[in-house]
Amino acid sequence: MKLRKTGAAAAAAIVLSLAATACGGKEGDPGDESGADSPELPTYAVAENVDIDSSVLKAAQDRGKLVIGSKADQPFLGFQDPRTKEYEGFDVEIAKMIAASLGFDPEKEIEFKTIDSSIRETAVANGQVDLMIGTYTINDERKNQVDFAGPYYMAGQDLLVRKDEEEIKGPDTIQGKTVCSIKGSTPLRNITENKDRFGADTVELGKYTDCVKQLVDGQVDAMTTDDAILKGYAAQRPDDLKVVGETFSEEPYGIGLKKGDDALREAVNDAIQSHIDNGDYRKAYDATLGQSGSEFTEPPALDRY
Ligand code: GLU
Repeated sequence: MKLRKTGAAAAAAIVLSLAATACGGKEGDPGDESGADSPELPTYAVAENVDIDSSVLKAAQDRGKLVIGSKADQPFLGFQDPRTKEYEGFDVEIAKMIAASLGFDPEKEIEFKTIDSSIRETAVANGQVDLMIGTYTINDERKNQVDFAGPYYMAGQDLLVRKDEEEIKGPDTIQGKTVCSIKGSTPLRNITENKDRFGADTVELGKYTDCVKQLVDGQVDAMTTDDAILKGYAAQRPDDLKVVGETFSEEPYGIGLKKGDDALREAVNDAIQSHIDNGDYRKAYDATLGQSGSEFTEPPALDRY
């Protein structure tokens, strides 16, 4: 009897250890909230005696804080924890590494401000934020109002649908469907301006999570924006949501800064390059966006225009 019991216990132990191995093998599994397998975030060396001919940076040095525009409702990218109020995600790490290179302690000397997509240019242009770092696609139209360092990441437009959706398989299957997207965003513009091609009706909202809610509640058929953002929602709710199809645009992410501040743009580009070269970028990616199922790709070359 004792022997049989031991045998059963041993068998159970083997099953458990196999399960543990299987879990370990799926490191970074979307939805894994234990954090047990999550790689650690890097820490960033804070530069000293930074002296750059930039009025924006000088004002930040005087106030002792760098003000960074961020997203707050994009898990794994730019997300504000409702309990701690702390910001986290890949874009937040990009902000921290740049702040450190500009001489600001990332844990004490950054003030994050949540800035919605539609007001990013205004927030940068009127000095509400020193830098805007939040899934911010570089394009010529925006360059009329702000300058961009980067790109530091290449995303692409994609579609998020309910898990049981069978008809929507990609951008060529949204004809007559209702698709939610975000005011002031490039993916919304793409489907509204190319209505002949896509044929979708749009619902335009201000917050990403409001689109997700409408999708889950069945008020819209799909949500469209960058794949990196959508994969985060799918990873959070794998039983309810899935990302379909291939990406159908290029969304190079840049850091928005005051137009004409070439010295700051140069310094931010140098900062990005140095954190790519020293491995911080990869480490930060693996600990954040990499956890949502977005596969790592080499960052695009900086555009030092
Ligand atoms: N990357 C796109 C944009 O800059 C969509 C994401 C966003 O709204 O931040 O418009």
